[in-house]
Amino acid sequence: GSTIGILGGGQLGRMLAVPATQFGYRVVTYSPEADSVAAELSADWIAKPWDDAEAMADFAARCDVVTWEFENVPTAPLNAIADKLVTPVRALEVAQDRLLEKQFVEELGGRPAPYVALEEHDDLRGALERIGTPGIVKTRRDGYDGKGQWRIDAGTSLSSLNLPMDPLIYEGFVVFEAEFSVILVRGKDGEVRFYDSAANEHRSGILARSTLPPPAAIAGQIDEARALARKIADALQYVGVLTLEFFATADGPVFNEMAPRVHNSGHWSIEGAVASQFENHIRAICGLPLGDTALTAARIVMDNIIGDGFADATSCLGTRDCHLHLYGKSEAREGRKMGHVTRLERNGAGA
Ligand code: ATP
Ligand code: MG
Ligand code: MG
Repeated sequence: GSTIGILGGGQLGRMLAVPATQFGYRVVTYSPEADSVAAELSADWIAKPWDDAEAMADFAARCDVVTWEFENVPTAPLNAIADKLVTPVRALEVAQDRLLEKQFVEELGGRPAPYVALEEHDDLRGALERIGTPGIVKTRRDGYDGKGQWRIDAGTSLSSLNLPMDPLIYEGFVVFEAEFSVILVRGKDGEVRFYDSAANEHRSGILARSTLPPPAAIAGQIDEARALARKIADALQYVGVLTLEFFATADGPVFNEMAPRVHNSGHWSIEGAVASQFENHIRAICGLPLGDTALTAARIVMDNIIGDGFADATSCLGTRDCHLHLYGKSEAREGRKMGHVTRLERNGAGA
């Protein structure tokens, strides 16, 4: 059989390994952490730093195709294994830098929040003059789950912020009615299929809940958001699952950020779609026909289990059509995604 290599060892890799294994592929995981939760579901794993060229070459030699579940994989070492990658590395390069990402999306007609790149920390004053408050300073690189972000209000004392020396960007705060994501899968032949868009609720910068169907404030903006997502996927010649996050505002969809991978706001698709985002990513990168993205239920709610809020997670198992996923993480640190629960409400007897 064939072997799929996955760069990154988190829960997304773990959930990709399930349909990959079901289709008869062997999964090999590459990740710098020794205790990756994806390794447990992989036939084999390599725990070496990203820049260990020998280990990376050995990994690639054992794989027929390589994909990633972690969007901050350094791109330089990937050039040496380019022949095993089907998803363009350019997608990673763009998505890893909030400035490049916003410029790229603007060129394709998308509308991000107003922003200014800060070359020096002193530039923040100028940025505040141009864009005003409230706003958010973000590190250009390496942020996730709201980490590397500082909210700025009119009264914020800039000198007490303690910003890191990393490249930064200042974004105006977007007044939104709701948040949603567009998740698509694009095949090697360019076919694109969209998942239904969930309404996403964040707490402390971390996704807490995704709900389908979305409210009208979102539903009316999905066509425009999808058109942009398709343009981006086509421009990149993307293969696999691609996610775009949006704010639904009174003036239409405002682009927040993109993730060149499967996404937390699509976890509901494991039970809530005919073919999940994980299955469709595997299908796409392996050149198989894409699966049906249609819903299997009328209403779907996905709740993340964050930190030690999972003490009684199994209690939901007594409820009909409630699906528990625990990622097997040993330590429930604050703000850490430990698992999720998806509840479905189907129409009558069938779907
Ligand atoms: P992820 O884990 O999704 O990659 P991240 O760390 O990259 O998160 P963002 O998506 O930039 O963070 O921001 C997290 C959340 O903070 C957003 O979903 C939104 O709720 C809020 N937020 C971020 N930027 C803005 C903005 N400019 N205006 C309003 N809210 C914002
Ligand atoms: Mg992000
Ligand atoms: Mg985000």
